[in-house]
Amino acid sequence: MRLLVIGAHHDDAELMAGGTLARFGGEILVMTDLGFEDQKFDKYSILILNQKIEEKIAEYQPDTVITHWWGDANQDHVIVNKAVNVACRPTPGHSVKRLLFGEVLSSTEWGTASFNPTYFVRINPKEKSKSLEKYEEKIREFPHPRSGLAVTFLAGYRGATAGLYAAEAFEVGRWID
Ligand SMILES: [Zn+2]
Repeated sequence: MRLLVIGAHHDDAELMAGGTLARFGGEILVMTDLGFEDQKFDKYSILILNQKIEEKIAEYQPDTVITHWWGDANQDHVIVNKAVNVACRPTPGHSVKRLLFGEVLSSTEWGTASFNPTYFVRINPKEKSKSLEKYEEKIREFPHPRSGLAVTFLAGYRGATAGLYAAEAFEVGRWID
């Protein structure tokens, strides 16, 4: 798997796929690192976001892309989902064969739609927690969903759903073999 995880903000990639990245390796693209302003993605033309994402995909040639789910409460996430969908259009010869949507605690479960994952990746929850250590200032106390305990509970619940000790779960946007 040649994996690219595209998140709007710092820590989104690790919350969606920190364990998957630890298992398979891959790269992370954070849109705020490209100068897009936190919580204000709606002020940019979506074309500019598309182009930045297309540039990264052309350079890295991932076969698998994980990004935000379309129903998140956070509107930056929704915009990134739309832009990634456009950048991953399955034109002939396009590198991306798998487009997956992941969940971000305190955004996905706070949306008004229901996240229904059908693809599960076995992870080591300790590796996932480790990937989040550098964002200590963003981690709150339980029962806030963006707490270490909630991250571990979710990994356990997603795992149990699929007969695994711990997992990250994704909705499938597109899967081409
Ligand atoms: Zn975010």
